[in-house]
Amino acid sequence: MKAELLYEGKAKKVYRVKDSQDELVLSYKNDATAFNGVKKDSFDGKGRLNNEISSYIFDYLSNENIESHFIEKLNETEQLVTETTIIPIEVVVRNIATGSITKRLGIKEKTLFTPPLVELFYKDDALGDPLINDEHALFLSDATRLELDEIKEMALTINTVLQKLFSEINLTLVDFKLEFGRLEDGRIVLSDEISPDTCRLWDRTTQEKMDKDVFRQDLGDLLHVYKEILHRLEARS
Ligand code: 5GP
Repeated sequence: MKAELLYEGKAKKVYRVKDSQDELVLSYKNDATAFNGVKKDSFDGKGRLNNEISSYIFDYLSNENIESHFIEKLNETEQLVTETTIIPIEVVVRNIATGSITKRLGIKEKTLFTPPLVELFYKDDALGDPLINDEHALFLSDATRLELDEIKEMALTINTVLQKLFSEINLTLVDFKLEFGRLEDGRIVLSDEISPDTCRLWDRTTQEKMDKDVFRQDLGDLLHVYKEILHRLEARS
């Protein structure tokens, strides 16, 4: 099914599909990176867990009428997606203060954001993904002002839908990062992945961190935590 390798990122490889104009295979790797690639490791089985979790979440979002590039899970580590041109903006939604915003703005850890905050970052490894404002985003991408507003609205809707999903499995959705891409016909849809690599999730009972912060901050066994998330998702369906 796979033809040539188009691109290899930190967590995934992207392949063109043989004889298809607009389908890609995303292959999830076992690598974990943090701090813009400065900290690196590899965990046997992480690729499978993120593929399974991300596929579950994209299926769930599709049932909630949120359109994405996701078509189907192909096997343990790969999924089929529709090709999009990625908009080079990372959209972060925050429900609770932690991570970069606490350092950047001096906001106290665990402050609640009601309503949630949306932040934009320029997707550029060489620049360390800097925070940008709307005017920067319009200059640095081909999105129009209306499309940028729509992207932020979609991010907030996705937040509401995912907060419900995660609360059902006793997790708090603290914050997360989304990427969007443009389809051939010009429409913008949710793209990339949604997994514990891209979300912060805290256990509602113990407050334990159950996401990539376990790797970033050396808090314990990353695979154990990702397995637990998949297990809880599978147990609800
Ligand atoms: P922060 O800005 O606090 O570092 O991250 C906010 C949220 O977005 C966290 O859930 C974090 O995992 C996610 N995030 C931000 N940038 C990236 C990125 O470049 N890669 C990944 N995997 N997640 C990111």
